[in-house]
Amino acid sequence: MGGCTYQSRLAAYHDGELPPERRREVQEHVAGCPACAAELERLRAVSRLLQSARAPAMPEDMAGRLHEALVPARERGIIRICRAVSLAAAALLVVCGAWLLTGRPDGAASAGPLAEWEVAAVTLDPELAQASAEEATALWLVSDLSRENGL
Ligand SMILES: [Zn+2]
Repeated sequence: MGGCTYQSRLAAYHDGELPPERRREVQEHVAGCPACAAELERLRAVSRLLQSARAPAMPEDMAGRLHEALVPARERGIIRICRAVSLAAAALLVVCGAWLLTGRPDGAASAGPLAEWEVAAVTLDPELAQASAEEATALWLVSDLSRENGL
């Protein structure tokens, strides 16, 4: 604190970061400047406090155990997000597919019956192309669920 121009150099002096010439200069100044001497003593007190409060060393095997515990947890989180995204995508696909097969969801008739190639393009499955919209939705759900359960 105070208005002494040396105050800004005291931290570097305290940390031993000044070249020898500047270090000697600051040392001589501090000897004759009570404000800088007090500030330097304050820095030393803080340094002592930090040293005495230093955290105990981490046990050697702890880093490895933390890593082992964290990696699977993170992977589980990513898998959960992927599953949620793919479920949302599957739901959107079912809704859009049903919409395309039956007409608009507001009940209005679609422009006309879909050509067989249009149905096949949406379903990508010739079996589904022959099925009604309800059957197609049911088949999608069954195939999606059985894939998820590894059947
Ligand atoms: Zn000073």
